Order: sequence, then structure tokens, then C-alpha cells
Amino acid sequence: MFKRPNFSENPKLAGLRNKLVKELKAKGISSPAVLDAIAHVPRHLFFPSDFENFAYRDAAFPIGNGQTISQPYTVAFQSQLLQIFPGEKVLEIGTGSGYQAAVLSTMGAEVHSIELIKALVISANRVLKILDIPMKTYVGDGTLGLPSQKPFDAIIVTAGAPSVPETLIKQLKINGRLVIPVGDEQNIQKMYRITRTSLTETKTEVFGDFKFVPLLGENGWTMNS
Ligand code: SAM
Repeated sequence: MFKRPNFSENPKLAGLRNKLVKELKAKGISSPAVLDAIAHVPRHLFFPSDFENFAYRDAAFPIGNGQTISQPYTVAFQSQLLQIFPGEKVLEIGTGSGYQAAVLSTMGAEVHSIELIKALVISANRVLKILDIPMKTYVGDGTLGLPSQKPFDAIIVTAGAPSVPETLIKQLKINGRLVIPVGDEQNIQKMYRITRTSLTETKTEVFGDFKFVPLLGENGWTMNS
């Protein structure tokens, strides 16, 4: 049984959240574990309080520091591609608001999440603590992975990369999956799923178009571009 976040429910927001789950199903999200997690994580708590009515629209939203909380469809799509089982160890690169990490944790993953911007980690930790969501956050350049915690069953990158960092593939277990948007810095990225099939081989699958903020850092876009 997955551990559900603990919070007092507002019936109006609960109704909007259920409607969002139906919308995601209609758009092709079929994983029961993903839909169940989205039905149970209160996305509005990851929003500035004046804007909680926007939380259950299928849209990205600004969270400060020039960053965004990803669109629910994108969160669901990436979570589904990861194909995680309860107990698996997952690295998220780009904590942002903490919402994606909360969804993965509610699906039963052991989540480690790294973010470049310290202020975002502080506010994400505040919400994750209120919800009693067990996960670890780190401040740093996620394009280097998280060597202290490797190997991972899955790695999810929630910012757009110029290419697939080899460093991340090396931190996967055999049969581990890396889900990462790759493409132009300001334009459209394709979603990649790279499975590490052996110590030296990978299988690459490419999915539809997405639009993310840039992945900055040593194996990403340069910080001042
Ligand atoms: N997953 C987030 C959520 O659920 O709210 C949304 C992430 S937002 C679209 C992308 C995040 O990636 C930003 O917060 C940005 O600061 C972060 N980021 C960009 N480059 C990074 C890097 N090299 N390491 C860690 N985080 C990075």
C-alpha cells in the first residue's frame, strides 16, 4: 500500500482534482499508480496561496525565481514513462516546487531530488514536511547526478537538456530508466527514455514534444546563456 499524503481536504479543490484526473485519463494517461498519486497529492499546496484556484488546470505555473511547476499532463507522462515499482530508488533533477517528487513518493518510490536554486528547495521542503512525504532534497548541479546515492532504478530530469548526459546513464542500475527532455534551449524538446540494458549498452525511445525551462549546469546549458 502506498503512503498517501496527510492533509485536511477542501471539497471544492478535491472536486477540481478529480476532474483533472479524468482529463489526464482522456489525454491518454493510463497508469493506475500515476492517476492514483495525482488524485491524492494536493497540487494547490505547491502553489502560492492566492493562486490555488489555478492548481487543477492542466497548465504549468510560475513558482518564482524564473521557474515553473510543470503541467500535470507532463508530470503524469514522465511518471508513467519511468515505470517505477514501489521501493525503487529514484533521482529527480529539478525539484522546483516539489510536486513531481511528491507524486513519485506517493507511488511508493524512494525519492532523492536535486535542485540548483536553494530558495526553491527550502519552500519545497516546507510543503513536503506538512504533507509528511518522506524524501530527501539536495542543492546542487543535477547534471552531475548524485554520486553519493547511486545507483538508481530511475532518473527523471524535469528541465530541458541540450543532450543526454552520459554521467546520468552511468548512475543507473542495469535495466534502470532515464527520462529526459532533450532539444533546443528556448523551443521544443522531445521526451527521451533511455534504458541501461547492460554495462555498455542502452536502448533509446523517443516520445512527443514538450516545453521545459532549460537544464543549466556542467552537462546542461551554460549558466549565463
Ligand atoms: N519538478 C518541478 C516541480 O514538480 O515543480 C518542476 C521543475 S522546473 C520545470 C525545472 C527546475 O529545474 C527548476 O526549478 C530549475 O531551477 C531546475 N534546474 C535547472 N537546471 C538544474 C540543474 N543542473 N540541477 C538541478 N536543478 C536544475
